[in-house]
Order: sequence, then structure tokens, then C-alpha cells
Amino acid sequence: MPLSLFNTLGRETQVFEPIRPDKVGFYGCGPTVYTYAHIGNLRAYVVHDLLVRTLRRLGFEVTHVMNITDVGHLSGDNDDGDDKMVRSAAERGKSVLEVADFYTRAFFKDMERMGITRPTVVCKATEHIDDMISLIKRIEAGGFTYTAGGNLYYDIGKFSRYGDLALLRQENLQAGARIGVDENKRNPRDFVLWFTRSKFENQALVWDSPWGRGYPGWHIECSAMSIKYLGEQFDIHAGGIDHVPIHHTNEIAQSEAATGKHPWVRYWVHNEFLVLDKEKMSKSSGSFLTLQSLIDRGFHALDYRYFLLGGHYRSQMQFSWEALEGARNARNALRDRFRTLVRKAGNLPAAVPPVSENSAGGYIEAFNQAIEDDLSSPRALAELWGLLRDNSIVPADALAAALDMDRVLGFGLAEEAAAETGQEEDREFRREIEALVTERTAAKQARDFARADAIRDSLAERGIVLEDSKTGTLWRRR
Ligand code: AMP
Ligand code: ZN
Repeated sequence: MPLSLFNTLGRETQVFEPIRPDKVGFYGCGPTVYTYAHIGNLRAYVVHDLLVRTLRRLGFEVTHVMNITDVGHLSGDNDDGDDKMVRSAAERGKSVLEVADFYTRAFFKDMERMGITRPTVVCKATEHIDDMISLIKRIEAGGFTYTAGGNLYYDIGKFSRYGDLALLRQENLQAGARIGVDENKRNPRDFVLWFTRSKFENQALVWDSPWGRGYPGWHIECSAMSIKYLGEQFDIHAGGIDHVPIHHTNEIAQSEAATGKHPWVRYWVHNEFLVLDKEKMSKSSGSFLTLQSLIDRGFHALDYRYFLLGGHYRSQMQFSWEALEGARNARNALRDRFRTLVRKAGNLPAAVPPVSENSAGGYIEAFNQAIEDDLSSPRALAELWGLLRDNSIVPADALAAALDMDRVLGFGLAEEAAAETGQEEDREFRREIEALVTERTAAKQARDFARADAIRDSLAERGIVLEDSKTGTLWRRR
């Protein structure tokens, strides 16, 4: 069964076909780093991780790009309010970049604890101002902009497909109701590409531009950085469902106006929200739960990952401490069963061997069907449980299958198993080998074949044989 994904663009489930064979360009909107990520935000990144892990396990070479918004995200979703970064810095008596750096580190610490694979490219808005200016120039050259009150605006009336993603109807877009406070706008949904008039005296970060000294609008960073790293058309773009009507709608308008190419992105994947007592959790309201606050109450970050994967990414989930406790109990029970399996199987396979043909094959097949059906993690998780409960499967087969499923679920079962078998040294050894295998894959991707071959040779000297296959590189001891 091929992978199918629900595409917000068109609102239907479609078979995933990449633009280039076997390669996937994926962009997921990253964090605004003026404070800690809340557990709702982390849901979005677990979903991106689930998608990336699924694609990689299917054999795709995925370039995953994530931006870090360290400038320009105003407190209103439109163009109103003050810059969240600037306000946060002022409140803490720090520079904007110090604040951004602090919360970026905190964010990646959370990502690591949650078992989220680091993106291939992490790019900061403040380091890509030139790319944004170049893209805005292209949009301007196409006649999609106007200047008013010192700011450069995007004129949505010039882009006929405006609002297709969010199913905004053209006639409603033309209606005169002024929802915004910005009197300079021709249409209330027009948005700023470049600000030179800041409402705040001390806008800390400003750059020279053809439109004057100022700073970029929020939406342009995602268009500019995704195009820079993934090209003018790419495969998948993801973010929370809240981004559909404004942020992603505006990203499309900007990108397609600049390049003239359509569609800019083939598949749009949006996760539903995590809600707390039926309230939307919001960073700007200031009261929200962080991962650390769960850990402080005695939970493991992976308990929260388990809780999240128990829901489908397109269903709203309600957070409660009881539900998190349920997830913790279930994860502990899963680990117990897994450890028993490791003991029964005797030792760990050197790498995850192909499993579809062995006695656990039926579970792998059902697991694949679930995950390839628009990333149904609850069903996939149920297959892992079925496998671990089934005493008729040869333990070595069940172990290999569980490890294979965990490549997608990301509960760290391989490390669990290494700890169980007391293979501490072995664990170090594995880590080292796996790091080298990853480095070799990266070298191959970068067409640095000399480096790739050198790594293969050095591994061979240590008795490690590599086998390249469609689903990645496996290693085993000779
Ligand atoms: P932000 O840092 O506010 O830009 O948000 C980062 C990501 O988290 C975006 O993809 C948002 O759409 C997503 N997001 C924000 N709040 C929630 C929530 N309560 N549940 C799930 N995703 C969310
Ligand atoms: Zn974005």
C-alpha cells in the first residue's frame, strides 16, 4: 500500500507522490522563540517527526527544514500588536538575540527528550534577511505590492488564487468590512511584507532594505527559507491547523507570486490542536504547560509522546493529568513486555533485519497499513501491542519487528533493549557505528563519495559490513 496523506489543499486524502523519485522536501513551521514551547506546540513537532520517520522508513531521502522565528512575529496574527521577541527581551532586560538563543536551546532540549529527530536544516529568520529581501523584490517586480504609511504591503487582490488553501471565498474577500485596525490596507487581509514604521520606539532589530530601514513581516521568512533550502516547488509543508487561514495562505500568495510557479507545495499537512480544559492553549496568553512542568510532576517526556501518538493527528486532543497517567502506565507496561521479549530472544539483532517474511510479518504488514493510511498512529500502536502480546511469534522475529515499528513510533526501544541486556559498552559501540553510518549517508547525499568510501573502509576494518537498501543502510558484524 502506498502512503496516503490528507491534503488540506483540496481537502482530500491523496496518494503521496514526490516530485523527484525517492526524495522528499519537507518544511515544517518552527517555533517562535520568545518563550518556552508549550505542550500544544510540541504536538505539532511530534507530528512532523512521525511523518519524517514514516517517510524515511519507506525509503525516501527526506530533507526536513525547520525555521526559528527570532524576529518579526507580532502578537496579533495579522499585522497588529508588538513584536513578541522585542517585548519578551524588554521584559527580561536582555537583548533580543540572547532571549532567542536561550529559548532555542530550551526548545531543542525538549525536542531531544521527546525523541524528535533533529531536522536536516534548522534556519533562523535573522540569518536570512537577504533572502527575504530578494524574494520581496521578486513579488514587487510582479506588481503584487503597494506602499502605504511607510510599510510595504502584499495586495491580495492581485493574486487570483488567494485563499484557495483555506477555502476563503472571493466575494467574501472583496467585502468591505474592515476587521483590521490598519487604515493603510486596501483589503483587510492584505499583509505587510516589510515594516519601516514600527509602532515601537525601540524596535531592536532593523535592517536596511530597498523600502527603508526596518524589519520583515512574519510570513515572508517561511517562503524565503523553504525556497532557499528546498527549491521553488517542493513536496510537503506542515504546521498547526491555526496556520491555514492566515500564515500558510499568505505563504502561498507570496511564493507563487514571486516564482510564478503553481503549486508551490504539493501536500499541506495540518495537525489539530491539543486543548486544555477545552481552552485553546496559547503562548501569548502566558499561562500554559511546558514539557518541564510535566517532568516536574514525575512524568517522562516519552509518556507525553505516547499520549500524543494515541490520538490521530487530525483529531483534537484534550490534555488531562489522568490521560497522561494512563499513557505513563501503558508505556511502562509496554516496556516491561519489551524487556521480557529481549530476554527471551537472547540478544539484540545487530541491526533491524528485514521482517516482512518472518513469523511477525503479519503484524508488520498491519502496522504499515495503519501508518501509511494518513499516519494512523493509534492503529499502529495497537499493532505493536498485538505483537508484544502474541506468544506464538518467534521471539527473535518479534524483537526485530518491534524495533522496526519503533523506527516510526520513536519510543527508544533499541536503547531500552541495550540497557536490558547490560550491553552498555555495546550501546556506546552501536552509537558510534550508527553515527558513522549516518555521516556516510550524508556524505553520499552531498556527493562526497571519497568521504563515504573512507567511512565504509574504516568500518570494514572494524568488522562492520554495510548493506545499502531502499530503506536505508543496515549494518552488521561480519
Ligand atoms: P508558534 O511557536 O506559536 O509559532 O507555534 C508552533 C507550532 O505549534 C505551530 O505549527 C502551531 O500551529 C502549533 N500549535 C500552536 N498551538 C498548538 C496547540 N495547542 N496544539 C497543537 N499545535 C499547536
Ligand atoms: Zn511558517
